[in-house]
Amino acid sequence: MSIELVYQQLKGQIASENIRLKEPMSQHTSFRVGGPADVMVLPETDRQIITTVEICRKNSCPYFIMGNGTNLLVRDGGYRGVIVKTAANMKDCRIEGENVSGQSGILLSTLSKLVMEESLEGFEFASGIPGTLGGAVAMNAGAYGGEIKDSLEWARVINPDGDIMTYTRDKLELGYRTSIIQRNDLIVLDCGLKLRKGNRDAIEKKINEYTSMRKAKQPLALPSAGSTFKRPEGYYAGKLIEDAGLRGFRIGHAQVSEMHCGFIVNVGNATANDIIALINHVKKEVKEKFNVELQPEVKVIGQL
Ligand SMILES: Cc1cc2nc3c(=O)[nH]c(=O)nc-3n(C[C@H](O)[C@H](O)[C@H](O)COP(=O)(O)OP(=O)(O)OC[C@H]3O[C@@H](n4cnc5c(N)ncnc54)[C@H](O)[C@@H]3O)c2cc1C
Repeated sequence: MSIELVYQQLKGQIASENIRLKEPMSQHTSFRVGGPADVMVLPETDRQIITTVEICRKNSCPYFIMGNGTNLLVRDGGYRGVIVKTAANMKDCRIEGENVSGQSGILLSTLSKLVMEESLEGFEFASGIPGTLGGAVAMNAGAYGGEIKDSLEWARVINPDGDIMTYTRDKLELGYRTSIIQRNDLIVLDCGLKLRKGNRDAIEKKINEYTSMRKAKQPLALPSAGSTFKRPEGYYAGKLIEDAGLRGFRIGHAQVSEMHCGFIVNVGNATANDIIALINHVKKEVKEKFNVELQPEVKVIGQL
């Protein structure tokens, strides 16, 4: 693969301000770590995503789709290939009655405010999740008893062959922090939700309650990717980590949060290596002490 050739071909299709070379991924991930992506594309249209994928495939160039980088850890060597980031320019949304459709890059926080103003309920849980709609579908994001699965009706996706398809909810295999999107390397272009008419003030009250709960329990002032590990069946990751005596444990500038042991936080200039070493240490200790295998929720990409 010649990344220079890929870059030249992309330049013929996408406005130059939406293509970046050697883009530091620390500026695009909520952990604030990660080396440079060879190329980053900030598409404005579905067509630009499709074209980017086509160019990458023709040149055997790896590509990766990201939303807002809030569940993403990029290694310190960066990413060899093209990163397509939807959160910059793909943020349209349409509300018709109880039906809401949004492009993959719209932030959940923005969408939850828009639907609140239309007195639509059922999306309050998502207001404090800092990712995009596309990322939330890929992860089946959830909080406070709600998840994307509850209101998602369909997602329009591109498959690795470049075909556009619409998957209804039952075909998306949405499970706990998982979906067919990740397993089959699909790219979400946009999706549709069905919400319910409710009372605007009651919706706002619920959102405010969730916000207060997050502020009280989560280390929101420090860079992180939210819960580092999935919830193991029958346990809570944070409780296991706390019981393993790891509250506040540090490797370099990566720390098991003092406030919430389920979060690994960057307390200064952590490297991806620090965070990965800490993830592995936590996994090892929890396995040894409780015989439970913790699985990271955060997606790790890139070179050492
Ligand atoms: C402070 C904090 C609190 C959080 N709280 C929660 C919470 O309560 N509940 C929860 O579920 N998560 C939570 N998260 C994690 C994260 O916000 C969610 O997982 C979110 O859904 C990720 O969205 P994103 O756009 O940032 O995705 P990214 O981090 O950019 O990507 C995550 C994964 O989604 C894939 N992806 C992204 N966009 C697309 C697309 N368009 N098509 C196909 N695949 C795509 C990526 O390839 C990657 O595999 C939290 C994170 C932080 C930092």
